[in-house]
Amino acid sequence: MRDYDSRDGVMIFGGVPVTEIADEFGTPVYVTDEVRLRENYRNVHGAFSKHMDAGIRYACKANTSLAVLKILESEGSGIDAVSIGEVLSCLKAGFTPDRILYTGVNVSNEELRAVTDLGVMVNVDSASELERLAKIKKGLPISMRITPGVGSGHSGKVITGSKGSKFGIPLKDAVKTYLRAKELGFDLKGIHVHIGSGGQTVEPFMEAMDVLIEMTNLLKENGIDLEFIDIGGGIGVPYRPNEPEMDVNELGMNLTDMILEGTDVKKILVEPGRYIICDTTVLLTRCVDVKDTGVKRYVGVDAGFNTLIRPAFYNSYHHAAIGNKFGRACTAKYDIVGPICETGDHLAQDRALPDPEEGDVVVIYDAGAYGFSMSSNYNSRPLCREVLVNNGKAELIRDSEPIEDLWRHQRIPARLIG
Ligand SMILES: *Cc1c(COP(=O)(O)O)cnc(C)c1O
Repeated sequence: MRDYDSRDGVMIFGGVPVTEIADEFGTPVYVTDEVRLRENYRNVHGAFSKHMDAGIRYACKANTSLAVLKILESEGSGIDAVSIGEVLSCLKAGFTPDRILYTGVNVSNEELRAVTDLGVMVNVDSASELERLAKIKKGLPISMRITPGVGSGHSGKVITGSKGSKFGIPLKDAVKTYLRAKELGFDLKGIHVHIGSGGQTVEPFMEAMDVLIEMTNLLKENGIDLEFIDIGGGIGVPYRPNEPEMDVNELGMNLTDMILEGTDVKKILVEPGRYIICDTTVLLTRCVDVKDTGVKRYVGVDAGFNTLIRPAFYNSYHHAAIGNKFGRACTAKYDIVGPICETGDHLAQDRALPDPEEGDVVVIYDAGAYGFSMSSNYNSRPLCREVLVNNGKAELIRDSEPIEDLWRHQRIPARLIG
């Protein structure tokens, strides 16, 4: 969790007082700091590229804002995309197809055709997908995702690499599937794992790398030489105050050492989503209601799980502060709850806050990853605005939706219209 400065009791984000942003753009609003975004990219890229040829493939499902994509494009990042929609968004933001890797799961033939028509490399998830892809196009360069039998993540819902997972080619079938791919005429470029999301320790990544190295060498013995090893994403970030941070430099050094010592492979790919975008962004939401039930105290705000689903869905912790009473002594504990008509609609629980009042600007920290990109229209609430700040300047990068947008694709059969 980052520390922020304040001026006259108001938190400053990206050089702008959060109350000014809330007043100018309305709430709820996601606010992203461009300077921090560029820093995060350079940190993680540097941690690997100082040891060997390293490509960052930003896992854009964490945040697909076109402005964010454009910034990462200008930094030289690549992309890991999990859907045709993400591929198209990245092309729209200026990425060329050769910088995008498509890692789908349970992919339809239509989507495989669309992705390969655009010239994007497929990271094959199953033997079934391989056979179907062979019928769509001949001689394609591909990578394959294997299930390493190592998982890691902040919640059971996001651990993907364990044995029996729905993701990837089971380890026991990996060599067989690569040999089949060769027989089908594919150009075999790489091997990939993604163990999960939000892991906080280096060890699972190293265990997964052990598996990748063993497989790479086994494939070499079988006449298949790979160009890259892709360790996937999942680098966790500290969401709580004083929580230790995973050392990406240590991670980069250990993983590249293992490849350089254990294989002939010259290139590593890494697919961080959360690490790059999470702490670049806060969600500003306004307190509209304060309630003391005698049992519990509530701060009612204008953002619910339609805007940020992580607390309700994963029980995730997001730090919260009152932006216009920054650093002030806390008076009692409150749940911060939204406008969605479900009891599970909370952004934070049991938080000490300084005398919350209607009109206060509540700041939800570390909302950049899986925040806006998982937001929804539930309760017929239009998606909120997004703002980019850069050294004291704030710009709108996404407008809120008018209610008409929720009706635009619906049809009422004529017979129902009297
Ligand atoms: C989600 C995902 C990532 C990124 O995970 P983070 O935890 O955001 O770093 C990387 N690779 C693949 C294939 C993914 O599905």
